[in-house]
Amino acid sequence: MRSVPILLYNTLSRRTEEFSPSSPEGIVGIYTCGPTVYNHLHIGNYRTYVFEDCLRRTLEFLGLKVRHVMNITDVGHMTSQADEGEDKMEVGAAREGKTAWEIAEFYTKSFLEDSKKLNLEAPDVLCRATDNILEQIALIKRLEEKGFTYRASDGVYFDTSKFQGYGRLAGGQARIEGLQEGARVVANAQKRNPTDFALWKFSPAGAKRQMEWDSPWGKGFPGWHIECSAMSMKHLGESFDIHCGGVDHIPIHHTNEIAQAEAATGKPFVRFWLHGEFLVLNKAKMAKSSGGFIRLKDAEEKGFDALDYRYFCFGAHYRRQLEFSWEALEAARTARRKLRDRGQELLKVEPEAGPDVMKALEAFRSRIAEDLDMPGAVASLWDAMHVLPPAGQRAYLQEADKVLGLRLLEPAEDKLSEDLQALFDRYCAARKAKDFAASDALRKDLAAKGIKVKDARGGSTWSRG
Ligand code: AMP
Ligand code: ZN
Repeated sequence: MRSVPILLYNTLSRRTEEFSPSSPEGIVGIYTCGPTVYNHLHIGNYRTYVFEDCLRRTLEFLGLKVRHVMNITDVGHMTSQADEGEDKMEVGAAREGKTAWEIAEFYTKSFLEDSKKLNLEAPDVLCRATDNILEQIALIKRLEEKGFTYRASDGVYFDTSKFQGYGRLAGGQARIEGLQEGARVVANAQKRNPTDFALWKFSPAGAKRQMEWDSPWGKGFPGWHIECSAMSMKHLGESFDIHCGGVDHIPIHHTNEIAQAEAATGKPFVRFWLHGEFLVLNKAKMAKSSGGFIRLKDAEEKGFDALDYRYFCFGAHYRRQLEFSWEALEAARTARRKLRDRGQELLKVEPEAGPDVMKALEAFRSRIAEDLDMPGAVASLWDAMHVLPPAGQRAYLQEADKVLGLRLLEPAEDKLSEDLQALFDRYCAARKAKDFAASDALRKDLAAKGIKVKDARGGSTWSRG
């Protein structure tokens, strides 16, 4: 098939550029910032991970090989962006009466389970900050030897005034200071510049932290930003192709990653920076700290499948905000089910990829290659479904679903979520006990969550819809 240019919007240059891998073997190195595992993730976080998954699948679909590295932040992400406040992991531990280590394990597991349900391809490397402390210390030492650091009473800091071009990613130093205005107000008085940030924080005098390590500067723990510079370079080399995250990472986290990496190596760190816009709820960013957040589990309890949410994410380009509403998720569910049902019927048909299929796939390919235009790709998919014969539809879906990841042609093994299964079990028990008032109420409850029940002699069965 004809190869198409891959166009990606690069935050660094503020332009859409043609992408090709820098390695002679054609392998694309991608680093994506993973979650801070002190709480469950919300569906806003997953919007970013779905976008990154589409990026990976698109590059693979267009014939490239990908090496994807993702981190798990399990130490050092402070509640305030100005490196003040508490470590989010310790906050999570105090909230739940568990150790920070238990919290990290529990929420990492929750993240991996959700990722599977959303059909996110597993990264080639998943690395934890706490497993890479020596690498982080080594990078700080390199920065110290080159004169980029200074010591304050609570830690070792990066001196941003010594790094030429600091803030380039966000549009320059002046803009960065504007964006970090909040940080400046609460800034540590010992910082030489408001944008300086902690590389290593000391454990508080006289107190033992749950997570702390020895270092050349004293007992403590790494700052949040250093983990991503250290682990990305460990697994992808000192210069690599693509780095992603949500737009909130542009002014601080990614800006600081660039400063640390480039100050240490003297080389350009990353060629393409891609950032996903927010999922918003009532016009405000969905955030763990605001309390107004929705989990994937909440949607499942209302009878949605995680893949309904995946389809919903395709409703806006990744660089535009996407407003969440249950009505919009319902519309996504209806559309996805229609496609899935069609896919299930097509399992009986032999695929046949004639010129009409090739042409339709060419249209799909041109959409995804243009800065991951998923809304355009989905529109071209519906067009194709209207014009192709069944054998062509099957051949088409087989290809397109490699990027969409909606499991359209996988034989459905439909299972209820744990909560819905419990509700259904209670329904059956109420019927068995001839408690019809209870079974009627439970039937209504199930119907409201998208589950229809049918009673027969041998027992009750359920279906969706
Ligand atoms: P965190 O666990 O806070 O580090 O966030 C994990 C990822 O989710 C980061 O890439 C964030 O940029 C992203 N993120 C956070 N909130 C949202 C949101 N409302 N919509 C989309 N992405 C988000
Ligand atoms: Zn990161």
